[in-house]
Amino acid sequence: MTVVYLSLGSNIGNREAYLRKAISALKTLPQTQVTQVSSFYETAAWGKTDQDDFLNLACQLETELDAQDLLSHCQKIEIDLNRVRHEHWGPRTIDIDILLYGQEVIATENLKVPHPYMTERGFVLVPLQEISPQLTLPNGRAVIDYLNQLDVSDVKVAKPFD
Ligand code: ATP
Ligand code: CA
Ligand code: CA
Repeated sequence: MTVVYLSLGSNIGNREAYLRKAISALKTLPQTQVTQVSSFYETAAWGKTDQDDFLNLACQLETELDAQDLLSHCQKIEIDLNRVRHEHWGPRTIDIDILLYGQEVIATENLKVPHPYMTERGFVLVPLQEISPQLTLPNGRAVIDYLNQLDVSDVKVAKPFD
């Protein structure tokens, strides 16, 4: 069993509904439990800023799936939730990124873990910190240390997942 952290985001249509549907879909994955879900957080778009605000959350899974299988399942959930790939960092109904897969470091063509940008993104680290305050990365550094270096004033807690 491996403890996994995911980051989910949406910025098209009923963002909360897409996030809830994605969490429901994750709950149906084989050999997997969703063990924690953060609050919803609202943030202005990052990277490509001429698009609607994002709603983000983080979740914790416990899974027997290997990392590649988990990625495939997450990509299938994205497709099932009408995600259409137009442009990198463009608007999307749902984005599911694997942040951490246990303490493994993975650097394959289609999967990089820890997620390469996670430590630069308040909208990733703020929800992650909420569900796992003591979490550290495979490099030994704590999430809170990265968070303390970031301006997270634009990451606003919207509401609890309940
Ligand atoms: P970013 O990765 O900067 O958040 P993005 O989420 O918009 O950007 P996508 O278009 O969703 O990027 O994904 C592009 C590719 O990233 C996917 O096809 C997937 O193979 C790859 N990828 C690499 N590492 C990961 C990871 N840790 N989690 C999810 N996808 C990953
Ligand atoms: Ca992403
Ligand atoms: Ca992605």
